[in-house]
Amino acid sequence: MNELDQQTLDQIKAGLLKERDQVLKDLSDISQKDPHETENRSSKFPEYGDKPDENAQEISEYTANVATEKVLEDSLKDIDNALKRMEKGEYGICKYCHKPINPKRLVARPTASSCIECKTELQAE
Ligand SMILES: [Zn+2]
Repeated sequence: MNELDQQTLDQIKAGLLKERDQVLKDLSDISQKDPHETENRSSKFPEYGDKPDENAQEISEYTANVATEKVLEDSLKDIDNALKRMEKGEYGICKYCHKPINPKRLVARPTASSCIECKTELQAE
């Protein structure tokens, strides 16, 4: 198969919407886990945050969350862009050479916006 058919497109779209839900869920989980937002931590653990070790742990936990959040926000952006391209009927077209992207690549990586050839060329640079 070299052309993206409607059935495959629908499958990809359903997958993207599902992934979007998951990303949004993960994002809300992270903000709840944010150590700076936990209530009553200081009353339960009065020394938490005073010792250098605990400070470091708190900071690394926070940094990890920020990093994960960034990754999730990036994937959310990719998913939204892919859905936007679907709405405009531009989905599956390489943004560099404007040729159709191999459907197999799209199934494997639904947020892909460039064909393998262009991607490989860009990575080689
Ligand atoms: Zn291309």
